[in-house]
Amino acid sequence: MNRPSLYFRDEHELFRQSVRQFIDNEVVPHTDAWETARRIPLSIFQRMGQLGYLGLPFPEEYGGVNADFWYSVVFLEELARCGMGGFATAVSVHEYMAINHIARVGSTDLKQRYLQPAIAGEKVAALAITEPDAGSDVSAIRTTAIRTDAGDAYIVNGTKTFISNGTYGDFVTLVVKTGSPTERTGAGTHPISLLVVDLDSPGITRTKLNKIGWHSSDTAEIRFDDVRVPVANLIGQENRGFYYLMESLQLERLVAAVMAVSGAQLALDWTLQYLNEREAFGKKIGTFQAIRHQIANIATEIEMARQFVYHTCWLFTQGDVIVKECSMAKLATSELQKRVVDTCLQFFGGYGYMEDYPIARAYRDVRVGTIAGGSSEIMREIIAKIVIDAVAYKPVYQSK
Ligand SMILES: Cc1cc2nc3c(=O)[nH]c(=O)nc-3n(C[C@H](O)[C@H](O)[C@H](O)COP(=O)(O)OP(=O)(O)OC[C@H]3O[C@@H](n4cnc5c(N)ncnc54)[C@H](O)[C@@H]3O)c2cc1C
Repeated sequence: MNRPSLYFRDEHELFRQSVRQFIDNEVVPHTDAWETARRIPLSIFQRMGQLGYLGLPFPEEYGGVNADFWYSVVFLEELARCGMGGFATAVSVHEYMAINHIARVGSTDLKQRYLQPAIAGEKVAALAITEPDAGSDVSAIRTTAIRTDAGDAYIVNGTKTFISNGTYGDFVTLVVKTGSPTERTGAGTHPISLLVVDLDSPGITRTKLNKIGWHSSDTAEIRFDDVRVPVANLIGQENRGFYYLMESLQLERLVAAVMAVSGAQLALDWTLQYLNEREAFGKKIGTFQAIRHQIANIATEIEMARQFVYHTCWLFTQGDVIVKECSMAKLATSELQKRVVDTCLQFFGGYGYMEDYPIARAYRDVRVGTIAGGSSEIMREIIAKIVIDAVAYKPVYQSK
């Protein structure tokens, strides 16, 4: 029996059942094929578009569902339960990171040309912040977008790396340096803007990268050589990109946290089943106290993490600036998931190390959780600034 929830109503639970059915029937059976191909097909984006899954938080005007945030939480939890970190990443990056800025501050024209087809699953989106020499320190990016003399376009030069959906995606929300030459190079200045760039534009070279996990998501290095981008593809205001990014990173971290808790729960669920099947010394291994106590610890930590993440989601729905909570949620849950998967794999013994067992894939996939989307060290830096130095953050989308 489901307990009453502070957050989810019956409609959310019905939605959960339909997403779970979709994942079980239309995603999980393709795990081996997609992991081997190192990509997921466009057809699965299109299918999710038809089902409305890619437009949950977006306005109906552009084909979205305009559903409350708890539908997104349900969707992300179930997405993570597919047991394929790569698939979950490809979809969550597309919906909650790459097109989010267009939805929030993009022009009507950009929404029609990019948001609408992305919601329909007809175009796949990427978000490109990281560069070979600038990851954690976003202000150090070097990719430039210089206005042409006629002023109707930018010329983009630079390289982005580790970009999810970058190899097969259709467009990218690209983070670039704009501003004057002194502003672009000056220490501590952030003349950063966001542009939508078609990934088949002349001057773009994409190289697929090999990863130790997240195999079904494609990850690319993308080079931009004199790529011409119409000024109409600027998202929001020029030189406000840094602030847009800083605010949206909160959602990105919350999304990661929701999926990390769900992924940890999935690993626990697989393990509970195995403890009940596997025997050693004439007993089910789930009867050994050494294992039982570790399982009790894990179950407790997952439950506590889940409640903190739900609380943070609730704060998010109130429109609060929750840099501290989102950073804590990302830090705690990505570290937790890593520990949980490692401990669970131990209880599978040698089988845990075999590719036939999903826990082996989870072990590979989980490693990147404490690195991508803001590393644990960076989360601790942010939290320390708030807790120790009393740094305060204000909302930026609304401010001019
Ligand atoms: C599989 C994968 C997918 C990704 N997808 C995307 C994507 O779609 N789009 C995108 O833009 N990026 C993406 N990334 C990039 C990811 O967000 C970065 O890798 C991450 O932000 C870290 O940056 P970096 O790799 O340059 O590490 P660096 O910034 O070079 O950091 C190296 C080490 O130093 C530590 N460090 C750095 N600064 C500090 C500090 N001030 N104090 C203490 N320690 C510090 C870091 O925590 C890390 O341990 C992806 C990465 C991976 C691996």
